[in-house]
Order: sequence, then C-alpha cells, then structure tokens
Amino acid sequence: MIKYRLICKDCETIFDSWFSSSKEYERLKKKNFLNCHICSSLSVEKTLMSPSVFISKNNSKTVNQIKKYKETKEIILKYQEFIKKNFDYVGENFTYEARSVHYKNKKVSKGIYGTATKKDLKELKEEGIVVELIPWIKNNTN
Ligand SMILES: [Zn+2]
Repeated sequence: MIKYRLICKDCETIFDSWFSSSKEYERLKKKNFLNCHICSSLSVEKTLMSPSVFISKNNSKTVNQIKKYKETKEIILKYQEFIKKNFDYVGENFTYEARSVHYKNKKVSKGIYGTATKKDLKELKEEGIVVELIPWIKNNTN
C-alpha cells in the first residue's frame, strides 16, 4: 500500500489517499476515477511530498533490506560512539590540526576528528597525512 497526498487544483483541498501501488494511482487518474471529495473536480494531482510506504509483512525482501539498513545504521552509530570516545573533536579546524600533528609532532594522546572538504582531504593525502573518511549520520532516535 502506498499513501499519496493529493491536492485539488480547483479548491486547493489537500487530502491523503491510499493506493495499492503507484501504478494503481496512474490507472485511476487516467480513467478519471480520482476526484476531489469537496468539489468533485477531476483536477486532482499528487503533491510533491514523498509518499509513505506501508510494507506488508509478506514482503520479506523489502523487510530484510530495511533490517539490513537498520543494522548498518547501528554499526555506523557504534562506530561514531567509538570515534567520539577515543578521538578529540576539532570541528572545522580539522585540516589545520591534522597538519599540526603531522608536521610539528604536536603531542596528542588521542586521534582527532572533524570536518573537512573533499579538497582538503585530497591535499592532506597528497602530503602523506593519513586521513579516513567515515560515514556520519545523525541519530534521529535520540
Ligand atoms: Zn476540490
């Protein structure tokens, strides 16, 4: 099942409607079976809002994919926790700090992490400074 947010172009009413698939929506639209329940206009269109997807439990492939994604997300979050615990956050000074450590033998008990542009990373690598690009996601569950 897929939920679309529809908008009536005549009276500007917005309403949600469920369809078995996106094809089902196209089919009903072509046959003029979609009409506004307020003014009965046929000028009903999908809004640009991304659809919510309802996955039936029988659809094990999709469920597995989502599970896999969640597991990957877990791993990344654990990785982030590890980095946060064991590395010092230097934010946008990352490039500067990385060079300080590399060239001035600046004493650091911990590694550092922060943000850098792709260009910065490329330059650091060319200078022989070991940098790792890590995936970083926001933990929305917090
Ligand atoms: Zn309408």
